[in-house]
Amino acid sequence: MPGFELFGETEKKHIQDVMNSGVLMRYGFDAMRQGHWKTKELEEALCQRMHIGYAHVVSSGTAALTVALASAGVGAGDEVIMPTFTFVASFESILALGAVPVLVDVDDTLTLDPQAVENAVTTKTKVVMPVHMCGSMADLDALQHICRKHRLLLLEDACQAIGGSYKGKPLGSIGDLGCFSFDYVKTITCGEGGALITNNNEYYENGHKYSDHGHDHIGNDRGAEEHPFLGYNFRISELNAAVGCAQIKRLDEFISIQKKNYSILREALSPVEDVTFRRVPEGGEENYSFLNFFLPTEEMARKAQKALSNAGVDGCFYWYDNNWHYYRKWKHLTEHKFLGKLPEEVLNGLQNFTKTDFSQSDHWVGRNISCLIKLGWSEDEVQLRAQKMVEVLKSL
Ligand SMILES: *Cc1c(COP(=O)(O)O)cnc(C)c1O
Repeated sequence: MPGFELFGETEKKHIQDVMNSGVLMRYGFDAMRQGHWKTKELEEALCQRMHIGYAHVVSSGTAALTVALASAGVGAGDEVIMPTFTFVASFESILALGAVPVLVDVDDTLTLDPQAVENAVTTKTKVVMPVHMCGSMADLDALQHICRKHRLLLLEDACQAIGGSYKGKPLGSIGDLGCFSFDYVKTITCGEGGALITNNNEYYENGHKYSDHGHDHIGNDRGAEEHPFLGYNFRISELNAAVGCAQIKRLDEFISIQKKNYSILREALSPVEDVTFRRVPEGGEENYSFLNFFLPTEEMARKAQKALSNAGVDGCFYWYDNNWHYYRKWKHLTEHKFLGKLPEEVLNGLQNFTKTDFSQSDHWVGRNISCLIKLGWSEDEVQLRAQKMVEVLKSL
């Protein structure tokens, strides 16, 4: 998965351009920059690759989610439906705006279960936020149908799935808004960075202003800018964006390497009796950054992860016991551990996590193993890995 495995000369060239001009800021300093606008260049490349009207690059994927929500006017007391299996950035970005995260179950796709979403809609719901975890997507047709019916926004968190597609369209480009992360461990990286994409001009206009203190970015050299509304600072630096300019051009190369490695492992594991694979919705194509499979019981999954690790097969995760991606171990959220006082709307709106039934999520996440696919493996390494995995899983 991580693009940092294959840094090369183009990344260095783009960084050198920035250092030669000395302009590390994405806006202004027009005369000094020697024609280099790395963040803009990355935004244009994203628009092309994602077949979308607008892309705005920011300082992180979490910032992208926050700016995306803010750009659509999400604020105090609005409910945002999100999955139990995701990254903490989902609820952080929602809470940052005074909005209320509403967690709902995932299904065998390991993403939002459309029926659970439908059941969770209230008069306060404003957004449905599917998270395309570990390289594969939610059933976007079903979610889009629910959103149209109830007039909700669909915001795709495609931070872990850049390069995947659904019914021929790039992930992230299907909802009203889509977000990517370019942090250090993502499929393509800027070191730190993220982007939101949309075809909606109003969201785009709001988004670039909000992420830079409300500046309207009209005119040259920041001379006569107005502040139509209050914002914040979620800007990326040109140095980070420079790395992204090189990496975005290599996205398709990275995906094809991942697909090759993924396919070797999947083919090897397919005949193993106890192994079943995560469901990919019809018309979906993963970005192949993880191979996800289920074992018959929680005990077997836990045992398999340990045995794989003992056999030297690194990068296989049992997220159910891990505090990164599943609600069960997010004590800071479930026990309301905040610095300062939360707004009343949030305190009144948060679910009681000890009483909410997430047994369906437990059923799927509790039996899942998620194996990272690396770019740098040689063919021999992948074959050896496949062989070891089969041995371990057959002997459970
Ligand atoms: C990485 C990630 C984010 C946040 O991205 P950062 O750039 O690390 O802030 C959000 N959602 C998901 C699903 C992620 O994996």
